[in-house]
Amino acid sequence: MICYDDALCQVLDTVVPLPPREISLTEAGGLVLATPARAKWDMPRCDNSAMDGFAVTGAPSADALLRIIGSSYAGHAFNGSLRADEAIRITTGAPLPPGADTIIPIEDVEEYDGQIRVTAAPRACQHVRYRGEEYREGDIMVDVGTSLQAGEIAVLAGGGITQVKVVPRPRIAVISTGDELVELGTEPGHGQIVNSNQHLLCTRLSECGYDTVCLGIGNDNLRNLQKLFERALDADVIISTGGVSVGDKDHVQAALETLGFIKKFWKVAIKPGKPLLFGLLNKKPYFGLPGNPAATAATLELFALPALRKMAGWPDPQTSRRRGMLTSDVRCGGNRQTFLWCKLEWFEDQYLVTVRQGQGSGQNRSIQGANALLSVPVGTKWLMAGDMVDVQLINN
Ligand code: AMP
Ligand code: MG
Repeated sequence: MICYDDALCQVLDTVVPLPPREISLTEAGGLVLATPARAKWDMPRCDNSAMDGFAVTGAPSADALLRIIGSSYAGHAFNGSLRADEAIRITTGAPLPPGADTIIPIEDVEEYDGQIRVTAAPRACQHVRYRGEEYREGDIMVDVGTSLQAGEIAVLAGGGITQVKVVPRPRIAVISTGDELVELGTEPGHGQIVNSNQHLLCTRLSECGYDTVCLGIGNDNLRNLQKLFERALDADVIISTGGVSVGDKDHVQAALETLGFIKKFWKVAIKPGKPLLFGLLNKKPYFGLPGNPAATAATLELFALPALRKMAGWPDPQTSRRRGMLTSDVRCGGNRQTFLWCKLEWFEDQYLVTVRQGQGSGQNRSIQGANALLSVPVGTKWLMAGDMVDVQLINN
């Protein structure tokens, strides 16, 4: 059986970033830039004041008297020029008029009878923001591969960029399979359960910024599953849950095969999540996640989300890690690499890792409150309180 590292490598080797698209900057938050964005103009666009105060020429000495000949407010430039014995009132961001090269803050002057007396001698050229000091026309403001967060969007907006070329977010078709499933809002009959996996997947995927198309519940029969998978082909990625194990009713793989599925691997030596199925359906990445809720959630984090990040253009799609101290002894063991749901918290001056009590793969409660997965290698029987461990974050 393939191990976790090899399976993840196969997934990441199989998927490729989606073709870039040009979109409005206002829609681009969180997307990854596909071509460098270059400034349309110098920033700042002109020399301007960094303080509220007075623009003057040269560096007048303390006690110098200067005549106020006008004002330059942000948005209302002064139409004139300045001589050595003159000053203009100026506000932060307002253009420096010709002749002015120094700003005296308002706190460093006394004002009376239309003039100012300098109380603290300025340094020549102080408190000026020069044209182009942030970037120049044609400079790269944001480079390829950068995720457009608020800071990047602000820089691009300031530089006049209205359209950007980005890697779009993959759209994901979500299918739940199982005759025992009922939709939320229906009281389950004997032996039935609510389709909670759909809500786990859609919530988690939308938290990560992805759009989902929920295709509902597929019954455990070949024809019905075929129809659902055919409908799923409009999406960029297909994720289903359940039906990939070895039970009599696990028809997912057979249904996929009738549609030309190219299997990359089935079953990974991990716990939970062993029956994971991965491959390409009509060239679209397909993840067949096991139905047990904790296995669904773990395989989503460990395999599907890194793949989605790569498709969305992230240069490093791997899950972020943190190192923290275990707060209690943990019994491990088993012949598969085990992933334990845990809570990572910053306490005093370090991260603490608390493994959740119930880790049953059939229980949604094992995921509740968790924000990280602790990986335990095969052969480790115990981890002890105080051990330093690496965990993978599940909140990015
Ligand atoms: P399967 O992988 O189809 O063998 O499903 C294993 C178990 O996971 C089932 O017996 C259900 O208890 C549970 N399960 C499967 N699908 C879902 C779902 N969509 N929501 C919640 N639990 C599920
Ligand atoms: Mg099933």
